[in-house]
Amino acid sequence: MGRHNIINVHSIIPCSRVNGPGKRLVVFFQGCSRKCLGCFNPATHSFEENQLYSAEDILKNFLLPDTEGITVSGGEPFLQAKGLLQLLKAAKEEYGLSTVVYTGFNYEELKGYTPPPLNSLPQGEGKTEKPLPNFIDWVEGAKFISSPLRGEGKGGGEHQPVLNHIDVLIDGAYKDEQKEPTLLARGSTNQRLLFLSNRYQEKDFYMPAKVEIIISRDGTIKETGFSRVDIYKAA
Ligand code: SF4
Repeated sequence: MGRHNIINVHSIIPCSRVNGPGKRLVVFFQGCSRKCLGCFNPATHSFEENQLYSAEDILKNFLLPDTEGITVSGGEPFLQAKGLLQLLKAAKEEYGLSTVVYTGFNYEELKGYTPPPLNSLPQGEGKTEKPLPNFIDWVEGAKFISSPLRGEGKGGGEHQPVLNHIDVLIDGAYKDEQKEPTLLARGSTNQRLLFLSNRYQEKDFYMPAKVEIIISRDGTIKETGFSRVDIYKAA
């Protein structure tokens, strides 16, 4: 398998109930350059190699029985578009999972955006409005290059093949001043829940809580959801 299909992952939660409908496998991609003020996952921003998995490895090793779907978040999933496509395709076609993806891009950007030639990584500079100037993939030597999904979709731009495998896309960068006040599964009210298939409706995205604390057998504590709490690990 080529390195294009390897995903640089920040972390994986095998079972969450606050990242979309039902019991879900949640995969946080590593790497995001937007630097949104108040981002809940700043540890996902670095583009350094973290944990590398193929889509197959993720589904084989982390999927629990009776899981309803997979949620992909980040980091920015669309900056590893080929790995994202592999993961969503396998999740849907081989495991029958529903698919939810959170992205800092707007849907319109993903539909129509044509990447410029190879260049260096963009800097977010704390601004969330500007589209990023590049889509990139993880490649040999732990470097990123421009590698769009050219010609693989019809009538919808470079990312149509990925969009074709998404049931619900939650789009737009997080805006701290527009924090979502309800239990709807999004960080801020500017983000849209876009139902790209008829599998779900908005009512399915009201979560039982805003935050979930997961304590592993080894004592590791993870926090996930759409708000932050301070966690103190017992000495
Ligand atoms: S796009 Fe998402 S991961 Fe990236 S900085 Fe904004 S909130 Fe954080």
